[in-house]
Amino acid sequence: MRKQLLEIAHRFAADNLSPGTSGNISAREPDGRTFWITPSGMDFSQLLEADLVEIDVASGSIASGNRVPSSEVPLHVLTYQRRPDVKGIVHAHSLFAAVFSTLNRPIKAVHYQIARVGDEVPVADYATYGTDELADRATNALGQGNAVLLKNHGLIAVGNSIRDAYRNALDVEWVAHLYFLGLQIGEPDVLTHEELERVRDQFKDYGQKF
Ligand SMILES: [Zn+2]
Repeated sequence: MRKQLLEIAHRFAADNLSPGTSGNISAREPDGRTFWITPSGMDFSQLLEADLVEIDVASGSIASGNRVPSSEVPLHVLTYQRRPDVKGIVHAHSLFAAVFSTLNRPIKAVHYQIARVGDEVPVADYATYGTDELADRATNALGQGNAVLLKNHGLIAVGNSIRDAYRNALDVEWVAHLYFLGLQIGEPDVLTHEELERVRDQFKDYGQKF
């Protein structure tokens, strides 16, 4: 799990998804009881396995690791508690998702690439970063979806693995960018729930079979 988390942390840095040392990612152990999270205030491109911190899902306390964990531990803990299906979480201050968060404007399904995430990406009410209040508002707005915007802050994407969560984060940021560009010219058309359901059905058979 640490290896997978580290791989995504390095991709996160290379993709320049979040400025400076902002953002944090985590991956849950298969037994579901603990998860590994990135440390606070460290450059993602330089991270080593020894820098990752293990957190107990039930208590939110540190299970192992020497670093100070990300300030958003409460957000990750509550998400894993309320969503047993979630195995990975990506939080980023990605630019175009953050733009929509400042406007309190959900990211609409202007492209089918948003289908895995939900019918749209809602916005959670504002709360200060790192607080239990933020964790509560974010998980409420997330519901059973796979992404949510944190008002005037950024994006959270979840998935059934850390790789899946990361792909969802990239999908949201790409659709946010597309939507933003479209809004410069007019009001982009939005795909219907029925069409997104059809796409989700087709996604099940997409790609290579091994
Ligand atoms: Zn943040």
